[in-house]
Amino acid sequence: MRNSNLPEIDDKTCITGTMSLLRSLREKTVRRVALAFFVIQTVFPVFPLSALVRAEDSFGKNDSVRNVTLGQLAAGDVQLVDLTHGLNEKSPFWPGADYQPFELKTIATIEKNGVFSKAFAMPEHFGTHIDAPCHFEQGQPSLDEIKPTDLFAPGVVLDVSMAAEADPDYRLTVADVTNWEQANGAIPTGAIVLLKTGWNRFWDSNVRYRNQDLQGKMHFPGFSAEAARWLIKERQIRGVGIDTLSIDHGPSKDFIVHHVINGAGRYGLENVAHLDKLPARNFFLVVAPIKITTGTGGPTRLFAVLPRSK
Ligand SMILES: [Zn+2]
Repeated sequence: MRNSNLPEIDDKTCITGTMSLLRSLREKTVRRVALAFFVIQTVFPVFPLSALVRAEDSFGKNDSVRNVTLGQLAAGDVQLVDLTHGLNEKSPFWPGADYQPFELKTIATIEKNGVFSKAFAMPEHFGTHIDAPCHFEQGQPSLDEIKPTDLFAPGVVLDVSMAAEADPDYRLTVADVTNWEQANGAIPTGAIVLLKTGWNRFWDSNVRYRNQDLQGKMHFPGFSAEAARWLIKERQIRGVGIDTLSIDHGPSKDFIVHHVINGAGRYGLENVAHLDKLPARNFFLVVAPIKITTGTGGPTRLFAVLPRSK
């Protein structure tokens, strides 16, 4: 069967035919590249951030952030909230045997070397960071294997800071989630669900942030396994985030929420900063972790994009 798009070639005109075939293919390729280039150039200024999210994902119909464009982002015509803690030697960290404080040392100075340069050392799970799916479950993606498209998503904030004030071991319930939806509408499919516990205010004190009792058991709020399962099953969330050391609450020994989230191939974000600066919904998250080959997690720059309030 002859492909009707290609020029016909017989034996006599083989060379001429081949050349014209090559020319025709080359022209087609050039035309296609030019067309793609034209489309990108034309569409880019109005390319909505929501298009970065998979087609089946959706913002709520009243979420005006869906109309924010990359052009507006580049022009600074949006609100950008940095949800990342700065890293320094005072940053709180997990009380594990091989976990150490952040280290930073100068390895070259302009005076001595003509260049200013430093070296740092830290555990993967330190400061504002991501837990890759392989952190608690075998056979799940490592940090470098997380699909880039999964790092852009609509976000929501569920606030349990009142409940956590009364009970530092509080865990988000399914009822908390459904009550939130009653007030705010359904959580967008494929969203990242951030839990605001009020723990951000203790960030300056490792002791207060860990909140260990005399036995060394930590006390801070977290997700419940039931709520995590519900969010995965009912809302196909991309991941969860929290403003504490762990998505499991402080006293947890089985880290069940980590198992539920990682077991579903999803990621967690821990020590998220400034959740008090976000609305309950109508923002877009940009999750930018370091890319450690085979990493189980790593420091992550986290931004929320909000429509500029008029
Ligand atoms: Zn972690």
